[in-house]
Amino acid sequence: MKLGLLLPALAAFSLTGTVNAETAPIALAIHGGAGTINPEKMSDAQRQAVQAKLDEALSAGYAVLSRDGSALDAVETAVRVLEDSPLFNAGVGAVYTWEETHELDASIMDGATLDAGAVAGVRTVKNPITLARAVMTDSPHVMLSGDGAESFAREQGVTQVPNSHFDTERRLKSLKDAKAKILAQQGVSHQAAVAALESEFKMGTVGAVALDRAGNLAAATSTGGMTAKRWGRIGDSPVIGAGTYADNDACAVSATGHGEFFIRYNVAADICARVKYQKVSLASAADTVILERLKAVGGTGGVITVDPNGRVAMPFNTEGMYRASIDADGNKVIAIWQDALTE
Ligand code: ASP
Repeated sequence: MKLGLLLPALAAFSLTGTVNAETAPIALAIHGGAGTINPEKMSDAQRQAVQAKLDEALSAGYAVLSRDGSALDAVETAVRVLEDSPLFNAGVGAVYTWEETHELDASIMDGATLDAGAVAGVRTVKNPITLARAVMTDSPHVMLSGDGAESFAREQGVTQVPNSHFDTERRLKSLKDAKAKILAQQGVSHQAAVAALESEFKMGTVGAVALDRAGNLAAATSTGGMTAKRWGRIGDSPVIGAGTYADNDACAVSATGHGEFFIRYNVAADICARVKYQKVSLASAADTVILERLKAVGGTGGVITVDPNGRVAMPFNTEGMYRASIDADGNKVIAIWQDALTE
């Protein structure tokens, strides 16, 4: 590596090795899901609403980093804003299961320690990302599921709400459309019929990745999963290594897409491993996994990623991915399709 490339990173540290709060880089990226997002079917009002909410979540997380807060606090803060919005498939606005309920999954990871926490199939937790963080900090475990996770939420005093808190008319209609499509496929197994649904029924997860002034990375992901899911189906979002990964020696990743593929291809950890062991750039590692490996097998989706220098890469192999970021140079992007939005 040329010395010139090293200098900006080194300049962030004083001779004693402590971080210079004035100059150490910070960066944040967030997503609100990837999939078939047809520009013609999206009204200006819808686009502006999504854009405003992404901006709000980005600003909330970035404010944490700007006042020297931790990457963990930043990603949790940003994800909570998106969970509380009906626009995305996490928290309020989560998709419906086959039985017309909501089952939520989330995970968070600390790149400094490789500590992680996750919850799967929770029905009453208002902000699953906060419960995932409590699993990381206040339990001896990494992943809790279902009723046990809800008992833990009660013990921790994490806010609980009726399952109907997550209801939205739009997602109920999607469930009804999905069920009609699945039931129309006579002779096809439920599994195959669900797999054949267009991506609009599978996507909308939210996530965040951050670099703080102390040089620590963190990643967080939260989702309602896949419309019409059954049998306690769990996707990649709460699976450490698949939907979420952070390692200070490599990068932080939060994924969105067809979860079964992201689990099988261990997407988030694979991107970090390529950065760590192959010494390739973050952008190149993320592109190889999303645009080549996953795309070749029909695994639709994308990732947001950040490295220890505050570089951001956000590749996706779908029509669009709701995303926003501010990198170490202060470049701000809010985008849905390939090009950034201008207004
Ligand atoms: N990855 C999520 C899942 O499979 C869905 C999504 O990203 O929208 O549960």
